[in-house]
Amino acid sequence: MDQRAAATAAGLDPATLHDVLRVAAAPDFDRWRDQVHRTGGCSDPVHLTGWTLAKDRTSGDTLRRYSTEAEPGGRLRVACGNRRASRCPSCAHTYSGDTYHLIRAGLAGDESKDIPATVRDHPRVFATLTAPSFGPVHNRPDRGACRCGARHPENDPVLGTALDPESYDYAGAVLFNNHAGQLWQRFTNRLRRELAARAGLTQRELKDVLRVSYGKVAEFQKRGAIHFHAVIRLDGADGPGTVPPSWATVQLLDDAIRAAAVHTYTTITVPAAGDQPLRRFQWGRQLDIRPVKAFGDGSDITEQAVAAYVAKYATKAAETTGSLDR
Ligand SMILES: [Zn+2]
Ligand SMILES: [Zn+2]
Repeated sequence: MDQRAAATAAGLDPATLHDVLRVAAAPDFDRWRDQVHRTGGCSDPVHLTGWTLAKDRTSGDTLRRYSTEAEPGGRLRVACGNRRASRCPSCAHTYSGDTYHLIRAGLAGDESKDIPATVRDHPRVFATLTAPSFGPVHNRPDRGACRCGARHPENDPVLGTALDPESYDYAGAVLFNNHAGQLWQRFTNRLRRELAARAGLTQRELKDVLRVSYGKVAEFQKRGAIHFHAVIRLDGADGPGTVPPSWATVQLLDDAIRAAAVHTYTTITVPAAGDQPLRRFQWGRQLDIRPVKAFGDGSDITEQAVAAYVAKYATKAAETTGSLDR
């Protein structure tokens, strides 16, 4: 069989087959395969060239030396680590899996991560904090039509775009995304104060009996604004292995989150610059808080559902917005 016929039989074009044969026949094929394997099948690995040298400080002896010169093609391949499935399906899958296990461990416990299964009995909620409005956008309301009068199909590219591009606060939307991390920080500070107030304790006293744990991901909505999904859990003073005080209930946590989210302290002020006015950002009015249960009885969200949901958004985020995928 000539190479062309062989290529067709293998479902490859002749150039690819030629390449495959060249790589497979090379003396360093095993090392090459090892590299590909260790990148987890990354579709766009980063190629590194260079060397490292470790010397004993006192004796000056060379402890370890490594150079990419000995590697196949003189390069070391490492996984790109991109979280977006459209950039690298393999790395995004790895990241999604890691996120799933991380969130799941936080909810259900995981001995290998030093989180005992007793965290299941701690008050836990799944909360969604949204961005404020920057102006009306095209949407698909549960009932009736969009404000523009149309009934948009699900994949309509116009969804999430401004109804009135003239008045929509695009700069505000960008600034909010930029500062959303700080807003989250302020929210968590305020949450501790709200919890302390409900227990009749000072902040310092609270620290001695309670710790708040978070697992959160940022998600881009269709309109391009960030919102946060977070698992918020109450532990005893020394973390997941310790029992929270009896007054720390799901109801009290829910209540404290609502108060913290709308408190004036939970505001980000972006000073005026150039032709941009001063802006103050708070969370949007939509605030969703759901208790997390170990097993679904239909009314509450389950651990698995939360972990899967969060992991999905950790990788899907950028794709659904059609934002620049970098
Ligand atoms: Zn990759
Ligand atoms: Zn519309």
